Order: sequence, then C-alpha cells, then structure tokens
Amino acid sequence: MRILVTGGAGFLGSHLCDRLVEQKHDVICLDNYFTGSKRNVEHLIGNPRFELIRHDVTEPILLEVDRIYNLACPASPVHYQYNPVKTIKTSILGAVNMLGLAKRVKARILQASTSEVYGDPTVHPQPEEYWGNVNPIGIRSCYDEGKRVAETLFMDYHRQNKVDIRIVRIFNTYGPRMHPNDGRVVSNFIVQALQGKDITVYGDGSQTRSFCFVNDLVEAILRTMEQPEIGPINIGNPGEFTILELAEKVIQLTGSKSKIVMEPLPSDDPKQRQPDISKAKKVLNWEPKINLEEGLKETIAYFSTLPP
Ligand code: NAD
Ligand code: UDP
Repeated sequence: MRILVTGGAGFLGSHLCDRLVEQKHDVICLDNYFTGSKRNVEHLIGNPRFELIRHDVTEPILLEVDRIYNLACPASPVHYQYNPVKTIKTSILGAVNMLGLAKRVKARILQASTSEVYGDPTVHPQPEEYWGNVNPIGIRSCYDEGKRVAETLFMDYHRQNKVDIRIVRIFNTYGPRMHPNDGRVVSNFIVQALQGKDITVYGDGSQTRSFCFVNDLVEAILRTMEQPEIGPINIGNPGEFTILELAEKVIQLTGSKSKIVMEPLPSDDPKQRQPDISKAKKVLNWEPKINLEEGLKETIAYFSTLPP
C-alpha cells in the first residue's frame, strides 16, 4: 500500500515508518521538523520504498495514498507549550487537512490521540467510555483540547462523509529516538542520570504515570489500522509507577550518583494515569510485552550512544 505518516520524523513516527517499510509498503514521511529530525529516519533515506516530504500539516497537501497515520503534533509539554497557538492549529487544521485528503482519495486514516483527553482523571484506571476532566483554559489546554477537537472532527467526518477512520488514545510512551531535550520525564531522567546531574522530580513525585515501550505501542497502532473497530482504543502499558519510583529505577539501572531534587509541580499536572486496555486486548488481541525495567535498559543504552 501507499502509506502517509505525518510526524514521521518524530519519535513514534520514525519507528512506525521502520515497521511499514519492513512490511514492504511505500511510505511517505511528512514532517516540518519542529520536534522531529532527519536523523531519526536517515537510515531509510535512499530506500526506494521511502520518501521524505518537508510540509506543515496546517497547510493542505494533495497526495495519492491508501492509508494515513496522523501523528504530526508536538507531544512533550515543553514543546507544545512553546507556541500554544501553533499547537492547537496543528491538531485542528492538521486533522481537517488530513481528513479532507482521506475523504478525497478514500484512504483509511488513523488519529494519534492521547490519554490527555482524560485530563486530570477522576476515574481510575481510564476506560474509553470516560469523558475526562479537562481544564479548557490552562497551559495544557492547547494540546488536550486540540486533541479532543481532532477526535470530534474524526467522528464527524466518519458520520457525515463516511470517512474510514481509526482513533487510538496513546498513554505515555518512551524509547530510543526520544529527543534528549524533549522535556518528557523518561528522557529527562535518563539524560540527567547519565550526565551525573540532579534528577528533577516535579512536586513530591507521588503523581503516577504508566509507561509503554515504543515497540509495543507501534505494534498496537499497526493492528488498529488493519482491523474493523474504529475506536477510540486506549493503548498503553497498565504498569503504574509514581514519578519518584521512576527516578529511583533510572538511578539504579544507570548506576548513577545523581541526587533527586524536588522542583515545583507545573499547573494542571495530572495526578494519576493508567490505561484500561480491556478493549485493546479484545479487539486487537494485543497487550504490552516489555516491562519498565527491560524498556528502560534499552532506552538507557540508546542515550548512552549519543554525544554529550
Ligand atoms: P514527537 O514530537 O517526537 O513527534 C511529533 C512529530 O510531528 C515531529 O516529528 C514534529 O516535527 C512533527 N510535527 C509537529 N508539528 C507539525 C506540523 N504542524 N506539521 C508537520 N509535522 C509536525 O512526538 P511523539 O512522541 O512521536 O508523538 C507522535 C504523536 O503521538 C503526537 O501526535 C502525539 O500527540 C501522540 N502521542 C504521543 C505520546 C507519547 O507518549 N509519545 C502520548 C500520547 C500521544
Ligand atoms: N516530570 C518530572 N520531572 C521532569 C519531567 C517531568 O517530575 O523532569 C513529571 C511531570 O510533572 C509529570 C510526569 O513527570 O507529572 C510526566 O511528565 P511528561 O512531561 O513526561 O508527560 P505528561 O505529564 O504529559 O504525562
């Protein structure tokens, strides 16, 4: 098939491009390189099945494709808060443009949505039926509300125009090719530990997250695209850890002498997050295989090879 991956030069997108090229599809990777980089896909450049396009999804584009994976959007709070107006435009105008393309060429289109649609959840763990607890006017809203409107657009194009859609709600995912200055917790802690710098725990570190290794995540996205359930489907690893536990684990696995220091908690930081993956288990016959320790070891090995 001819497959478009928007945000294909980013962390998740580049791993997805790898798998699709391996499966012998013709892959078009589209990216504006805001948080992604050519380095993430340089091993694919020159492969006749792979094509790279510099483009911004807030502008329309005409292409002939059979599948669209819509991943373009900065995912780390530091990056999506850098230019919040651009972030919300990327989610919303990007969705409109990619859905318009899907409608015109009758492509199936998958949206990379997020656990952030649940906001600071009052239901735990979060099933897909939960409508969330989201602040519409806070510093995370450009991302959370942008992704919520994108889901609405996907559902309305489906109901109104019969566009063939899939929606996955991705929970915190980590692994090789995360940007070292990305600002997300796993990359921050590993880089700090390897450089012997203080490990910055925000708040008292009692907030929880559930961390999924990238290979597990990509497998679930690929399965979602090629089965009939449109979603939304939660994808993540239900193993739940406090941020303090994560810091201690990273120190242990790197053998670092770094100290843990507490810094102020950013506003609207969700207190807890854990996916209910019953639906993914049932419809995708999928569950994550890689536990936090194995995944962290692989990620630490990757960051150890980067120049300081
Ligand atoms: P990332 O920042 O590494 O990748 C995003 C990619 O999109 C980058 O290559 C960036 O340059 C590109 N991009 C941003 N704005 C663009 C625009 N206007 N036009 C074209 N390209 C643009 O982040 P990621 O972790 O790989 O996330 C990929 C997708 O998955 C995002 O949509 C994100 O919201 C979603 N997601 C990720 C996680 C996670 O934990 N990694 C969790 C939930 C949802
Ligand atoms: N966090 C932290 N130290 C850091 C970066 C993040 O304690 O250096 C915390 C952050 O406040 C949040 C959790 O780790 O509670 C996950 O943050 P991340 O930005 O990775 O993702 P999100 O908050 O979007 O789940």
